[in-house]
Amino acid sequence: MFKLLKIIARAGEATEKYPFAPMPVSPGFRGKPEYTSQQCIACAACVLACPPNALTVKTDADACTRTWSLNLGRCIFCGRCEEVCPTGAIELSPEFELAVGSKADLLQQATFTLMRCRQCDTPFAPTKEVEYALALTVQQGVPESDLESLRARFETCPDCKRLHTLDATDARRYVVKGAA
Ligand code: SF4
Ligand code: SF4
Repeated sequence: MFKLLKIIARAGEATEKYPFAPMPVSPGFRGKPEYTSQQCIACAACVLACPPNALTVKTDADACTRTWSLNLGRCIFCGRCEEVCPTGAIELSPEFELAVGSKADLLQQATFTLMRCRQCDTPFAPTKEVEYALALTVQQGVPESDLESLRARFETCPDCKRLHTLDATDARRYVVKGAA
């Protein structure tokens, strides 16, 4: 009996105290994605990168909004969203206790306003994304005198930009080709 107790004392504790004490995780452990909507610009880069479609965006042109959603029930904790996010709005945390009482609690959402095109008034991109792109361009050292025309370009939708890029000659050629 004493021999056995001595062996046990030598071996020490072989188990973790979890769940009575926090369970340590390895460095780089990929747990629950933590999302900070204040940092998000609704660019949808994470949505395109997410393999199991745990991330989605829905655009409502009538309400002029885009809703970003994360369904944790579909997440495979691959970390692709964190890799592609330009603003650090989504990052994997060490949290692994994800049990919830209701499926609805696995869903996280944030709604963003869309910017309307200066020319045609169509909603075309999240306002925060346009402001972010503009701020990045200004950081490159754009002269103060060019700021207003730069803003006008950023606040114009791709269709209107294309139309205005065609000068009168190109436009005539296009019309003639179209007629032929
Ligand atoms: S960790 Fe992977 S599966 Fe989960 S939300 Fe991010 S990209 Fe999608
Ligand atoms: S990539 Fe980042 S900023 Fe873009 S929608 Fe996803 S969380 Fe938001």
